[in-house]
Amino acid sequence: MVFMRQHLIDPEVCIRCNTCEENCPIEGAIEHNDDNYVVNAALCEYCMNCIAPCPTGAINNWRNVRQPYSLEQQYLWDELPASIEWADTEGTTEALEEEANQILDVAHQGSGVVPAPATAARPQINLWSQGSPAKAIVAGNYRITEAGTESDVRHIILDFGSQSFPVLEGQSLGVIPPGVDDNGKPHAVRLYSISSPRDGERPNYNNLSLTVKRIAYGEHDETKKGLASNYMCDLQKGDEVEITGPFGSTFLMPNDAAAHIVMLCTGTGVAPFRAMTERRRRMGIVGSGKTMLFFGARSASELPYFGPLQKLSGELLDQELVYSRVGAGTKEYVQDRMLKRASDLAELLEDEDSHFFVCGLKGMETGVENSFKQICLEHNMDWDKIRTTLLAEGRYHIETY
Ligand code: NAP
Repeated sequence: MVFMRQHLIDPEVCIRCNTCEENCPIEGAIEHNDDNYVVNAALCEYCMNCIAPCPTGAINNWRNVRQPYSLEQQYLWDELPASIEWADTEGTTEALEEEANQILDVAHQGSGVVPAPATAARPQINLWSQGSPAKAIVAGNYRITEAGTESDVRHIILDFGSQSFPVLEGQSLGVIPPGVDDNGKPHAVRLYSISSPRDGERPNYNNLSLTVKRIAYGEHDETKKGLASNYMCDLQKGDEVEITGPFGSTFLMPNDAAAHIVMLCTGTGVAPFRAMTERRRRMGIVGSGKTMLFFGARSASELPYFGPLQKLSGELLDQELVYSRVGAGTKEYVQDRMLKRASDLAELLEDEDSHFFVCGLKGMETGVENSFKQICLEHNMDWDKIRTTLLAEGRYHIETY
């Protein structure tokens, strides 16, 4: 029996962010045109490097096929074809499905796909798409960095009215900027982490918040960076915004009051950590789990949520605010401050109730990893081994851009 498990991308859910193509190590295995991102069945080796980084889950689609769908067919799709029934082929449907799933399991082994924390609640994903977006109403748009500073960061509250948009801390959503691009096509969806907890920005209201920094339009001309952030930062109360999602099924908060949560972020990367901290604040201090935040910004006046953070008790949140542009010769990054808390972090690294989350600038990733490595060296611990365990157990999550 000739059949295969074909890897496909769901055109309805894909936001065309190019992450899959960037992460694919085989040239040509993933390609795109103006319409769709597609997988070349002749080249894909199931290494799964593309699966975890995909922000929407569009990449994680599979079909059992006798003949793989061609690139030409995939480019024409508006939606994925239905799963093929095997009852009319040799062998039973179950046997064939099982064999196909074994191929997939082998491919998954060693793929580096990081699971969600074991106790995380089950997220809802992909409820609203670009073809059928939710329509949220802006309930508020507040600057959360000091006026007059270069960093214009906004706390934007969106109300979903009677539309269902359930989220968990750590999830993201997509914003569709109005209008069309130079080719007359709708603008690509932009992703933002949700900065409010699951019960809403205002408890038990069907709303949520985002943390958005204004980027000068045209600063990175070729990518048209800044188009969406300016649209978002200029939103007025009562405006309607088209939203897709929710997205994200692994960067999630452990649902366990005994879990230690260590959060490392720069700038607007704080968004998911505001959600997690607020969740714990609302639940009250009920367990033994520590909540620790390392947060880097240029200065206190450019650190999003500086005021509200000052009001949180040390018992609820152990916070290290780190500034890179205060005074001459005193540049400090999050990874530098980690070294000053080395013994606390070493203790947490050894504790199987600890979860580590990194969110923010891409550049911080190496710095944070190096600091973990150094802390482990100083404490006779093996970072590579610990890192592998943390990843396998869904206790180390990185979301950087
Ligand atoms: P930013 O203001 O440019 O930088 C924040 C701080 O990080 C500054 O103090 C900066 O220092 C420092 N920094 C620069 N390079 C670093 C490095 N290699 N290691 C450690 N710290 C470093 O940050 P931002 O513009 O808010 O950007 C934050 C990032 O988070 C963006 O890439 C954004 O896409 C991403 N993000 C946003 C969200 C969201 O929902 N809003 C969610 C997830 C991630 P200096 O500049 O002084 O050197």
